[in-house]
Amino acid sequence: MKFKPANTIQDLQYFGEFGGVNPSISDSATYTFLKANKMLDTFEGEAEGCYLYSRHTSPSNLYLGEALAAMENTEAANVAGSGMGAITTTLLHFCGANDHIVSSRTIYGGTYAFLKNFAPRFKVDTSFVNITDLEKVESAINKDTKVIYCEAVSNPLLEVADILGLSKIAKKHNLKLLVDNTFSPMIISPKKLGADVVLHSLTKFINGTNDTMGGVVCGSQQLIDSMRSVIDGSAMLLGPSMDSLRAASILKNMRTLHIRMKQHSKNALYLAEQFEKLGLKTVYPGLTSHPSHKIFKSMMNKEYGFGGLLTLDVGSLSKANELMESMQEQNLGYLAVSLGFYKTLFSAPGTSTSSEIPDDEQKEMGLTDGLIRFSIGLDNDIERTFNAMKDCMIKIGIVKK
Ligand SMILES: *Cc1c(COP(=O)(O)O)cnc(C)c1O
Repeated sequence: MKFKPANTIQDLQYFGEFGGVNPSISDSATYTFLKANKMLDTFEGEAEGCYLYSRHTSPSNLYLGEALAAMENTEAANVAGSGMGAITTTLLHFCGANDHIVSSRTIYGGTYAFLKNFAPRFKVDTSFVNITDLEKVESAINKDTKVIYCEAVSNPLLEVADILGLSKIAKKHNLKLLVDNTFSPMIISPKKLGADVVLHSLTKFINGTNDTMGGVVCGSQQLIDSMRSVIDGSAMLLGPSMDSLRAASILKNMRTLHIRMKQHSKNALYLAEQFEKLGLKTVYPGLTSHPSHKIFKSMMNKEYGFGGLLTLDVGSLSKANELMESMQEQNLGYLAVSLGFYKTLFSAPGTSTSSEIPDDEQKEMGLTDGLIRFSIGLDNDIERTFNAMKDCMIKIGIVKK
């Protein structure tokens, strides 16, 4: 397959019913057939271009799926009503009773809870490993392993997966490498680095306006077809389907993703550098102090920068809370979970998005009480933002005047 540049979403052209510059929205749950025998063919997956029922797919969902497949350089994609809807159905596609998964231990709290607490109901077991240690990853593989699972840039610790290295291990053992690329859309192209499947929560950067949930699985046409199968497809039967109106609105937002990612990255790099200069414990893949800075640089599509996420460790939960409240009072951002918004969002992962992870395991993976995760916004004057943040830090006593 010839790889296309990451901006191919700009090249896609769909016209609406009356020559509109946006595709028409398929505002229908079910579809009529002119000929009765066509219906059976469609059920059996043999009637190309016919729609059946919107849980299966809809024209609007296909447009969005095509744009996401173009972005991730995969043959096809299937959208879902949330990131978790895409992730869980994909994992359950590849794994059933007595199968085993090797997963990064620093992943989104919901995915962690699914693998740790829910998947064992189906006898799907997971070994959680330090994903940056390729030897540990390989030694966790056993005869039942089907999948290696990781996030390109992990939530919330911003560990960076060596996707090329992981894909070599996956190929050697005949496993599938699944990469959640939610933190680094456009920046990292996991498929080009050998990943088999790329997942996203569209709720974050890709939609970017925090008005809807969404998810996607990007992979081969054969994978997407089988996940949508009416007979035994996980996406079709578990039913996380996205609504057509939402698919249409996400597609429109996606067209500015490349511009937004550049601005998120520019602002985050500036703040990370300034915070580090103040002597604060700052984690950002764009800093040379980041343990995986070199690997990130080797994988990234340079023009999009190092992403919009950074973390600060301010020493204690009480200081973290004080700082977040103070910044919110100054209108520098919102104390909220999630990411990829025009406004900066901050939260303490230990007590929020990663609270599913038990305390002792949090400690082991380096998730400290004083950690604040920042999703840096699209601020036009980031220097002004920095100065106001610094004032908050001086006020609560973590930075000297
Ligand atoms: C938010 C998030 C998810 C889950 O997506 P939802 O849209 O909230 O279901 C999965 N992975 C990562 C990295 C996330 O940040």
